[in-house]
Amino acid sequence: EAKTGGKNRACLFRPEMAASFRRRTELENEMREGLASGQFELHYQPIVEIASRKVVALEALLRWNHPAKGRISPAEFIPIAERSDLISDLGEWVLERAATDIVLLPGEVSVSINVSPMQFRQPGRLVAAIRAIIEDHAVPADRLELELTESVLVDDPDQTLATMAELRAFGIRFALDDFGTGYASIGYLATYSFDKVKIDRSFASVISENEASRSIVELVQHLAERIGFTVVAEGLESRLQVEAIAATGICLAQGYFFGKPEAIGPLAKRLSASIVIPER
Ligand code: C2E
Ligand code: MG
Ligand code: MG
Ligand code: MG
Repeated sequence: EAKTGGKNRACLFRPEMAASFRRRTELENEMREGLASGQFELHYQPIVEIASRKVVALEALLRWNHPAKGRISPAEFIPIAERSDLISDLGEWVLERAATDIVLLPGEVSVSINVSPMQFRQPGRLVAAIRAIIEDHAVPADRLELELTESVLVDDPDQTLATMAELRAFGIRFALDDFGTGYASIGYLATYSFDKVKIDRSFASVISENEASRSIVELVQHLAERIGFTVVAEGLESRLQVEAIAATGICLAQGYFFGKPEAIGPLAKRLSASIVIPER
């Protein structure tokens, strides 16, 4: 209960806080049911080689179509799942779904899956789930990439390195997601040997105007060439942004300019006809 008096008291009783608490509790309770009854869906967004417009990979992005509340953003429900014990169930559903969908795609297109830091805290369970999809679905491990955020590196570096090594032995590849916004330093790029580093969307919108941001992006690309990882620019929406990114030497990009996340059916059909995205 709140203490009376003090200047924080008004904050403790704001009605919208009660409403958001209620919503979080409802979503947490409804998530398990939603998972069992088919309310979740995977959408896929292309990762494209800028010069050729070839799709090299698809990022799997989770969607929750709630029967009463409508489409709920993963930015809202993933943190809720992470605070309950549901994130591993969700994560395993995503792995299974992606393993089934990958069969519909041309062999040269890989699939990139977001993995929560909380899943990395149960390494045995994560490794078992990934081993299972490789074996049960005969998914070639080298077509699967796991996207980690910087926080997993900060949490428990030794355990993370060990888990990554175990998964790498299967042939799994790793991308560092949202680089440039979290807590990780440039030193992590050398320690963890990521295959890809995804530069956060916040850089895309400023790179053509802001010299300092452009210098940071150029530095990351320079390190990529020296250390041996590939940079992906996230969140590109305009031709101007694509040109500014390409000028830094970055070859891979993702964003609404190339395609929004969508269901596998129509996307797989178009990619089977051609993996090159038409110029727009
Ligand atoms: P993320 O992994 O960084 O994914 C990229 C996000 O940026 C996606 O949001 C995508 O729809 C959005 N995006 C892509 N291109 C553009 C663009 O040009 N402009 C703008 N404004 N946005 C763009 P989404 O799908 O809402 O996902 C949000 C976050 O939720 C993801 O960020 C990821 O951290 C998390 N997430 C999504 N699916 C999963 C999942 O299966 N498991 C886990 N653990 N997290 C997931
Ligand atoms: Mg991601
Ligand atoms: Mg990202
Ligand atoms: Mg993000």
